Parts: sequence; structure tokens; C-alpha cells
Amino acid sequence: MSGDRVRLDDLPLRDDLRGRTPYGAPQLDVPVRLNTNENPYPPPPELVDDLAEAVRSQASVLNRYPDRDAVALREDLASFLGHGVVPAQVWAANGSNEILQQILQAFGGPGRGAMGFEPSYSMHPIITTGASTRWISGAREDDFGLDADRAVAAIEEHRPDVVFLTSPNNPTGTALPLEVVERVVKAAPGIVVVDEAYYEFARTGTPSALGLLPGNPRLIVTRTMSKAFAMAGTRLGYLAADPAVVEALLLVRLPYHLSTLTQAAARVALAHRAALLGTVDRLRAERDDVVAWLREHGLTVADSDANFVLFGRFADRGAVWQALLGHGVLVREVGPPEWLRVSIGTAGDMAAFRHAMAAVLADHP
Ligand code: PMP
Repeated sequence: MSGDRVRLDDLPLRDDLRGRTPYGAPQLDVPVRLNTNENPYPPPPELVDDLAEAVRSQASVLNRYPDRDAVALREDLASFLGHGVVPAQVWAANGSNEILQQILQAFGGPGRGAMGFEPSYSMHPIITTGASTRWISGAREDDFGLDADRAVAAIEEHRPDVVFLTSPNNPTGTALPLEVVERVVKAAPGIVVVDEAYYEFARTGTPSALGLLPGNPRLIVTRTMSKAFAMAGTRLGYLAADPAVVEALLLVRLPYHLSTLTQAAARVALAHRAALLGTVDRLRAERDDVVAWLREHGLTVADSDANFVLFGRFADRGAVWQALLGHGVLVREVGPPEWLRVSIGTAGDMAAFRHAMAAVLADHP
């Protein structure tokens, strides 16, 4: 009818997208935002200056398309990663979400399946189904870890084309021992993606799956500059894998997907990595403090190797979320029903969180 707003259901939408809800954490303008696992420290002034300079110099060539293969950036990323990784093993895109999407486009698809162990990052199933790939939900243990035998048995049962392992896991913070990753890679018939978005926050000595790349051409390790690198606004994710995997992704990537400005910003950030990653120790210390504080206050807290903490258990977590928001503190309602997740902010942010939480606990004993 004329004048009526067109609804989603009126459009010839794909059947498998009908009834779905988009990914979305509320972007609310509140004093203390601890809901999307960002790094609370803004880039240092020297980085801002160098970035402004890089943008100025690139601005004069913006009539041209970017380097389609992001060669210089991939060289910088390879040397940052170490572990003997060479540029041909590295690929970059707009956030690790786009990396994951390209992986699913190349290795998933109609008639294929991808499996993850939940609770885990909610975009894994969304990206999977968006690529017309069946989502297979495996389970984590009660402590949110993975038992290697049970994970291998689930993989042998479902034979997924793609397996996601998230380490440290979002939203639980759980890191996986390398032996579990190794067992899964051996058992999986297809691609294994180890999503290491939060790797830099892991407790010292936690080994990266990068060390397993030699001899495992179906293993992909994904990383991002959104978290420890404090560059979420830049949108830069990357992977390391066998060069043949990168060749596969070239088949599905959009030409010139990574803008000249994004490539320049990421290179500037890598040049300033010491300062950016210098925030990680402070964030780890704040994390360990808030874990201890929450436990002292009688709450259950998952051990965390990330820049966030999953805590509970609340009969009505929505009420607790709302009450914290009333105190100007935004956390995330995510994960199993009785839990909430708080990202680690500055010392001031965390003091505000503790203050708000103490008041909420007094009201919701
Ligand atoms: N993987 C995990 C486990 C995440 O939590 C996130 C961000 N929340 C991402 C990937 C995607 O991050 P980005 O696209 O910003 O790199």
C-alpha cells in the first residue's frame, strides 16, 4: 500500500536470512564503555603525527587504486609475527571479520559445514551462514575449556569443512593449550581457523598456534589490530597460513578491498607497536585485579587470558546490566544466560565499574 513502510519480509530476501537479527552491541554514549573489548588507551601523539603525515602523503595518490595485494603491509606484518612467517603467508583485510568471511567464501559454501565450540564469538556462525554454509555447534566444557578427546570425537562425527578454535575465547577469555589445537588440526578433514584476536593479552608463556604452521597447510591463524594494537577504528585484520591458503583467498577477495589509507594507517601502527603494545601489561594487571575483586565479592568468574572478563551468575542478568548502565557503566549481555562480560578499561574505568558493581550487588544481593 502506498505510504506504508516496506518491511524486510516484503523483500525477496534469501530464505536462510529470514527471521535473523543483525550482530550488534549497543553503541551508547555513556561515561564508561566496557562492552566491545576495545583498548581504552588512545593512540599516542607521536603515532597521531606520523599517521597524519602518512595520510597527507597518500592523499596525493588517492586518484589511483590501492596496492591490491598490500605487499608492503604484508611484509611488515610478517616481520612483526616472527615464527619464520614470510609475506607470502600473510593476508590482510578490513578487520579479522573480513578475513573470516573470505575464509568461509573460499572454503565453505553450499553443501559444506563449519563448526565452532560454543559459547564463542557470535560472528563465527553469522559469517558462516552468510556464506551459505551450515553451522555446526559443538560444546565447550563447564569451565569453558575444550577437552581434546571430546573435540576430536565431535569433529569425527560431523566432518566439518571448517573448524573454528578461538583462543583466547570470546566471551569466556579461555586460552587453549597448544596440544588441543594440535589434536584438532590432526583430526579435522578441512581447514582449522585459530582465531587469536586476543592473543597478545594471554598470560606470558601461552604459545601461539603460529608455531604449528610448518607442516600444517590447512591451519590458519587470524589476528587483529582492533584489540591489543588499539586500532579498532582502522579495521585491520590479518592471517598467517600456508601461501596456498592466501592464493585461495585471492579468488574471493574484492579487488582493492583494503584502502590506501587503511594500509598506511596499519603500517604506521606497526611502526609504533612498542608504544601500542605497551598498554597490554597494564590491561592484564587490571584484568587480574578485577577478577580477584569479583571473586572476593562472591561472584563466579571465568579465568581470563583476554582483555575482558566473564562473570556471573545472575538469575536476571538483564536487570544487572541495566542497573550498571544506570551508574554510567556499559557492559555486555553476551554468552550463557546467567553471565555478563566486562571489557578491561583504564584504572579509572575499572574503579567506576567496581563502584557501580558494589552498589548493584547491594541492591541485588
Ligand atoms: N574474533 C574475535 C574472537 C573477536 O572477538 C572479534 C571482535 N569482537 C573479532 C574476531 C573481529 O575483530 P575485528 O574485525 O575488529 O578484527
